[in-house]
Amino acid sequence: MPASPSKSLKTYRTKRDFTRTSEPAGKRTRSDAKALEFVVQKHAASRLHFDLRLESDGVMKSWAVPKGPSLDPRDKRLAMQVEDHPIEYNSFEGTIPKGEYGGGTVMIWDRGTYEPAEGKSSIASGIRAGKLEFTLHGEKLRGAFALVRMARGDGREWLLIKQGDDSVVKRPITSDRDKSVVSKRTMKQ
Ligand code: MN
Repeated sequence: MPASPSKSLKTYRTKRDFTRTSEPAGKRTRSDAKALEFVVQKHAASRLHFDLRLESDGVMKSWAVPKGPSLDPRDKRLAMQVEDHPIEYNSFEGTIPKGEYGGGTVMIWDRGTYEPAEGKSSIASGIRAGKLEFTLHGEKLRGAFALVRMARGDGREWLLIKQGDDSVVKRPITSDRDKSVVSKRTMKQ
C-alpha cells in the first residue's frame, strides 16, 4: 500500500508556519492517470542549492542537490534526501520570509514529466532499494538519470547521475541555463 500523502507530509508541515510563508500546505490529491510530474527548484537558502522533486504516491519525493543537476554522465552529484513535499509545491516560486524554515528565494529552474525505468509504474520500490532510474522530460533536463543511495552515511545521501544517451551535454548547465522556466526571470529579478 502506498503511504498516505497526508501522513508523508507531516515533517514538511511541522517545519513551516503557513501563516507566515506563502508555500503550500498540501491539500491536493490525485486519482487520475496523468503523467508523473517532476520539478527542479533553485533555492537561495542559507546555502544555494537545487531541489529535485519526483512525484510518487501523491507527494513529491525530494532531494537537495548542492551543485545542481548535470547532463554529463561523468558528474556524480550529491543529493541529500529531504522531507516529502506536496504536489502543489511544483508551482511555488517566490521568496520564503527570512527567519522561516528555508528562508530565501525559490525559482522553478525546470519542470516537466518523468517516467520510471522500463517496466516500473512507480519509483517507490527503487527508493526502498536505494537505486532508481527514470527518464526526465523537462525543458532543460532530458533523458535518463539514476539516483543511487550511498552506502556510507545515514541513508539520506544519494548520488544523482546522468545516464548515457543522446541528451548528454558535457559542460556545466546550471550557469548558462539560469532563468525560471515559468517566469523567465533570474533569481535576482
Ligand atoms: Mn531547498
